Amino acid sequence: MATYQYRCDQDGVFEVRLPMGAATPRWTCPECGGEAARSYSAPMLALAPRELVTEIDRAEKTRDEPAVVTAVPPAHGRTRRPATASNPALQRLPRP
Ligand SMILES: [Zn+2]
Repeated sequence: MATYQYRCDQDGVFEVRLPMGAATPRWTCPECGGEAARSYSAPMLALAPRELVTEIDRAEKTRDEPAVVTAVPPAHGRTRRPATASNPALQRLPRP
């Protein structure tokens, strides 16, 4: 279900809960019975989980202010071994 917003010329804005995609351009006003036009508003992001909002804000920030890396990240205890040590097919390749 989604909440759709309609605006009546006499009674103002009211909301109607309908299945997704079932909204029509016009709806009957519950107050006066007249025709109300559908109106659009910003999504209600205040109801979104805080972690989601934080990630959206961080993703949008990287668009204009990307994080700059100035050094190679630490290996965290992992030692880098050449691929030839574990793959016998690579050991037959010519060496520089
Ligand atoms: Zn009305």
